[in-house]
Amino acid sequence: MGFLDLFRPRWKHPDPVVRRMAVTGLKDQQILAEVVRTDQDWLARDYAVERLTDKSVLAEVAKTHGSWEIRRKAVEKVYDWSVLAEIAKTDDDWHVRQAAVHRLGGSEPENQALLAQIATTDNNAVVRYGAVMRLLRGKCKDLLAEIASDDDDADVRSVAVKMVEDQNLLTEIVKTDPHWHVRWTAIENLTDRTTLSEIAKTDDNSRVRWHAESKLSDGIKCRDCGKRISYDEAHKDALGQAMELVWETSAASNPKFMPELVQKAARRCDRCGKWICSACVEHRFRAGMVTDANCGGTFKTVEYRDP
Ligand SMILES: [Zn+2]
Ligand SMILES: [Zn+2]
Repeated sequence: MGFLDLFRPRWKHPDPVVRRMAVTGLKDQQILAEVVRTDQDWLARDYAVERLTDKSVLAEVAKTHGSWEIRRKAVEKVYDWSVLAEIAKTDDDWHVRQAAVHRLGGSEPENQALLAQIATTDNNAVVRYGAVMRLLRGKCKDLLAEIASDDDDADVRSVAVKMVEDQNLLTEIVKTDPHWHVRWTAIENLTDRTTLSEIAKTDDNSRVRWHAESKLSDGIKCRDCGKRISYDEAHKDALGQAMELVWETSAASNPKFMPELVQKAARRCDRCGKWICSACVEHRFRAGMVTDANCGGTFKTVEYRDP
């Protein structure tokens, strides 16, 4: 340690560990601001940002610091709406814009208009998603409808479509959106039975078809015991698919034989469309009742799981 170090404040000490310790005891906002601006040690800067309380210093750091991590940290302590609005619209880094959007509160018109602007124009899907989430609280229906049908990102469309109630738009989305999860979510608010039964038959994703069918019948239930059947119970995975093939071959010679290894799955009658749950499938097989006595159809494994 040199002679001059004796007169140097500890927050300017050459050893970063000493500086970090010193910062944790500082309250002077100007000194803390200087540490945030100039210290080479990220932890010392980090501690200093945490101790900032002065509104104008925080706003300045949030708007101008060279590190996005520091800007984001400062944004998390900013309350001034106009500062947050400016950062949400203009910061170069999406992490910082996202943090600002997250802090934009209130349902007053100017806030809704700003969120709408961000939700439709920001080039980052995470930021748009955050803005849509804030809008959901304000329930800006027209705008959400636009986002639900036009956003490039499937997660953003999915979250917006939750608020859409317009049946025509939901029908359009459920028939045309390229991503299964958006179509799946659109079904939640869809009440039009014609569309639902069309989707239950024609969608190319088994989860979407299942969801539409459940919606039509208020949950898919077992014909024999009345228990509700889940998607996973009715759709075998890859291993189940392989075992099924082995079983089908041996079942030709002994229809009552159902090895323990076979993944139990709900089945559907190929004639009347009624379902039986996996437990009832097993009972029926052991009893040799593999057909539906009511209609003469056969209970069959329907399909395999979509990823
Ligand atoms: Zn059952
Ligand atoms: Zn039947």
